[in-house]
Amino acid sequence: MNTIEHFNEHVMPTYGRYDLVLDKGEKQTAVSEEGKEYIDFGSGIGTNSLGYCNEDWVNAVCEQAHKIQHTSNYYYTKVQADFAAKLCEITGYSKMFFGNSGAEANECAIKLARKYSFDKYGKEAERNIIITLVNSFHGRTMGTLSATGQDVFHNYFFPFLPGFVNVKANDIDDLKKVLAENDGKVCAIMFECIQGEGGVIGLDAAFVKVIFEEAEKNDILTICDEVQTGVGRTGKFLACENFGVKPDVVTMAKGLAGGLPIGVCLANDKCKDVLTKGTHGSTFGGNPVVCAGGLAVLNKVSSEGFLDEVVQKGYYIWQKLINNPEVTGISGLGLMMGVSLKTKSAGDVCKACLDNGLLILTAKDKLRFLPPLNISYEEIDKGIAILEKILAE
Ligand SMILES: *Cc1c(COP(=O)(O)O)cnc(C)c1O
Repeated sequence: MNTIEHFNEHVMPTYGRYDLVLDKGEKQTAVSEEGKEYIDFGSGIGTNSLGYCNEDWVNAVCEQAHKIQHTSNYYYTKVQADFAAKLCEITGYSKMFFGNSGAEANECAIKLARKYSFDKYGKEAERNIIITLVNSFHGRTMGTLSATGQDVFHNYFFPFLPGFVNVKANDIDDLKKVLAENDGKVCAIMFECIQGEGGVIGLDAAFVKVIFEEAEKNDILTICDEVQTGVGRTGKFLACENFGVKPDVVTMAKGLAGGLPIGVCLANDKCKDVLTKGTHGSTFGGNPVVCAGGLAVLNKVSSEGFLDEVVQKGYYIWQKLINNPEVTGISGLGLMMGVSLKTKSAGDVCKACLDNGLLILTAKDKLRFLPPLNISYEEIDKGIAILEKILAE
């Protein structure tokens, strides 16, 4: 039996997978079981931020695995402390919580926001509504699915969690209207600066400004879901830096540990002590091996000039594609890009790219680029050449 049949016999079919079995990888290239090479513009949905098996990352992970792999959260490890300190130092946040995924990071933010209002205004105030945006994506748990502002996700699993109200992204009037309708009941506004799964759609600076003004006026927490946009993806360490704002809470996950499962929730001084002993937890959260990998990523991404390169490479890709006759627009920032096509379907192009040795993603009707942050210009050229060939067919 081949790997695909073997797999499908025992794993629930929750994904539409390509007929491709990946066996190993190096830098920006993945290799299939048959030995065919694929340039990777998707990096495992933005998780392999340093590409495949980056040497410093592998060494850090292996060294930690040889030393101690897990302790439970009844005890302390140095590598957890080092990771948390480094992340807080880079981002300017006060404290963080360790989970294992983007959804878990957001669950933490949701709990934190509700408890912040509960503690401050009391149970009777029922100040528990979290405003999220239409077309957002926050995860697959019951809580984060309920937060997600896309009807396609609100099926089968009823009842969803109450207390989430959607506002149209970039619609200031809608935001003000929904705030007025729920006056005194809103504890947080949660948003992605660039909606990733929703189609690589950036928020307008003016809309973001109003979110922060209204939040400030009404003691509403701002939660920025940086699960996809964080760790240098947009050319800043956090995407919200591009907007000149400092949310109360930031969640991160995908690229944070270079391909190992992690999810963190960062909080500023105002809400760093909301979650107290016994109010939240995770068995695997802060796993030392993951933290060691994460620390290697943080050291690299925060090194001199690294983020400038992300910006330059993003611009390089943009320049190569913007005049392509099949391309009608390019959205996003840094190395997070969405490419709109004139006549072709993004899904078809994605499949054709795969057949020609290029892994790339889609987001709604766009092609989506999330290449490793340290991708070389040479590999960009090779990948773009494949894409150009497909677009010209
Ligand atoms: C991927 C993603 C999530 C969910 O992360 P998981 O690790 O799959 O739980 C949440 N928010 C955003 C913005 C994402 O891109």
